[in-house]
Amino acid sequence: MKIKLDNRYLNTGEEKQFLHPIGKRHDGTNIGLPLVGIMGEKPGPVLGITAGVHGDEYEGPEALRLIIDEIDPKELRGGIICTPHANMSALEIHHRSGWIDRLDMNRSFPGKNNGYITERAADIVVKEIIEQSDYFLDLHSAGLSYDLEAYVGFNDTEGKLGEESYELAKAFGVPLLYSSTPFPNVMRLEAHKRNIPAILVESGGEGRCKTDRLSIMKTGISNVMKYLGMIDGELQELPNKYTVIKAPSYGEFLHSPASGYLRGKVGIGEKVKKGDLLGEIVDVFGNKIISITSPLDGIILIVRTIPSIRLGDWAFSIVEITNEGNNQDFVIESHKECVSNETF
Ligand SMILES: [Zn+2]
Repeated sequence: MKIKLDNRYLNTGEEKQFLHPIGKRHDGTNIGLPLVGIMGEKPGPVLGITAGVHGDEYEGPEALRLIIDEIDPKELRGGIICTPHANMSALEIHHRSGWIDRLDMNRSFPGKNNGYITERAADIVVKEIIEQSDYFLDLHSAGLSYDLEAYVGFNDTEGKLGEESYELAKAFGVPLLYSSTPFPNVMRLEAHKRNIPAILVESGGEGRCKTDRLSIMKTGISNVMKYLGMIDGELQELPNKYTVIKAPSYGEFLHSPASGYLRGKVGIGEKVKKGDLLGEIVDVFGNKIISITSPLDGIILIVRTIPSIRLGDWAFSIVEITNEGNNQDFVIESHKECVSNETF
């Protein structure tokens, strides 16, 4: 178990903040990526955590800061290597993507050390966080224009890696578990390629940091750390029932069929049937342009909450239910191998 930061290994019991250099601006000031490393005094796994990959998502970064504040390196088993804001140029304009190259960071992996600024930041995340991790969490929310029902995405892949991802997802402790396989250019694929169990967490949105959504995020991170044996305590606020969901065949989002003012008729977490009214789009005078109905039976996972909508914008995300209930699939296996690849 070891964590390298700023070209040296952390001592046991050490916590360090470091602005990893990306390059310089016209005026010579540094462009950097903030990293935090914490090395516990006791042996255990290294947990990698990224937040702020999208600059208009705030629950993940704040939950991570609160968790970092609470950790006592003397009591910590293992270590943490993380960034509260992986995408600083996006944070500066409170936008999903950065203002310099406008690239979506979570479609820019594995990154390039000689590419666009977002690709350079992605390359740093891979080398400094993912490659040092035994387990990996990527924290997101719905961003400025959307709200969502909290969920955890796990890698639905064959074998031990998929199983460990699923177990991490259950341990996080939200009822909706999103089954998917990591696709090219997303961050989670980089963890998967390196045999690191990973999950993607989504809680909150609308460009806010709402107390209840922040609490879900913070409790979940803490639950994962307990599950991995890094801190003591029982897992908190576990759901009575889990539901496994997946994207329908047409993709994760229903795109708007028209531009106008969206009058949404459904809320996050609602179950809908095929043909149910999701919303209608009116023009600037209030004349109805079109109704949007559900193409399937499922759950409303994400809704657009900024009413102004353009042709092709994401409007709703409805997901299919693949498994639901209190059955044996949802028992959380006790974790037995929460040790680092390295000896202490
Ligand atoms: Zn995001």
